[in-house]
Amino acid sequence: MSIKDNLTAIKDKLPKEVTLVAVSKTKPNEAILEAYEAGQRVFGENKIQEMTQKWETLPKDIKWHMIGHVQRNKVKYMAEFVSLIHGVDSFRLLLEINKQAKKYDRVIPCLLQMHIAEEETKFGLDKTELYAVINSHDFMALENIKVVGLMGMATFTKDERQIRKEFASLKSIFDDLKQKLPDIPVLSMGMSGDYAIAIEEGSTMVRIGSSIFGARNYS
Ligand SMILES: *Cc1c(COP(=O)(O)O)cnc(C)c1O
Repeated sequence: MSIKDNLTAIKDKLPKEVTLVAVSKTKPNEAILEAYEAGQRVFGENKIQEMTQKWETLPKDIKWHMIGHVQRNKVKYMAEFVSLIHGVDSFRLLLEINKQAKKYDRVIPCLLQMHIAEEETKFGLDKTELYAVINSHDFMALENIKVVGLMGMATFTKDERQIRKEFASLKSIFDDLKQKLPDIPVLSMGMSGDYAIAIEEGSTMVRIGSSIFGARNYS
């Protein structure tokens, strides 16, 4: 199957209101252009340098999402163009994004990343930390960022019950947060292996890489 066929097959399974982020990390510009020519405009990368190089060379109407872990000292490289940062997991990072966005007179949309998986290795906030960020004295004063929702990754497992339970917990945190911040439309959850479950559990944005572009080769 071609990239175009893969995209079509996935889009057929997505409800209209769910946004598809095509995760193009490690993939060359030619593969991205193939998806672009099939109509895809939203792409996700997990390395700031790689995303910046792609932004410089590919069509300017592409929306670039940073889906990976963000180091504060690299925010400056993407502040000019990034359209959504999924992996915000500290107030200090939010402050830095705000500072860099200001230089470009931008408001950068951000998602707060929640830790929902059993694995220790996945980044993210727990519920207490989430509310510490939202309730912090300075939060409302940050004029160059906008928190538009939450992001999370389920445990990497074949156990569907486990995955569903984790996505459901994120959805419940999301609904809870909406009481305080009504204007948060985005719940980013679901990847190639688990997006069908994520959508059943209330995802509004899925991040799909290998099912579109094929397996990644990290060598
Ligand atoms: C790589 C990655 C994805 C996409 O993974 P696939 O299994 O290839 O669909 C989604 N989200 C994040 C945060 C990733 O790093």
